[in-house]
Amino acid sequence: MGIMVNPARRDTTGSDLYILRGLLWCGDRLLIPASTDDDTRHYACPDTECDRPLINAEEIEQQVWQRYVQLNADAADVVSRDQRRSALVGILARITVGTSLVSLDYGWRD
Ligand SMILES: [Zn+2]
Repeated sequence: MGIMVNPARRDTTGSDLYILRGLLWCGDRLLIPASTDDDTRHYACPDTECDRPLINAEEIEQQVWQRYVQLNADAADVVSRDQRRSALVGILARITVGTSLVSLDYGWRD
């Protein structure tokens, strides 16, 4: 593959860039934040047997955020980028990633 995966860093402000940290699942494995040598952010499956490619973090975060906005149009107006993570973990228990980014299975909190 030739892609070096490094442990994900947090930015200097201490806020978590990976707003879906702890929410994304591949089967029964929790996807982990990873960055590549060009500093592109990804989520990766920790299962070395898994053939899921790295998931581009910006793409999946945008997609999940768009879903949130669809359901919470009012809230979305007042939630800053820094607040997105807490907004999402407040209503989402887990997101299971299917074979592609268009097949996300949302597990909402009751
Ligand atoms: Zn996997």
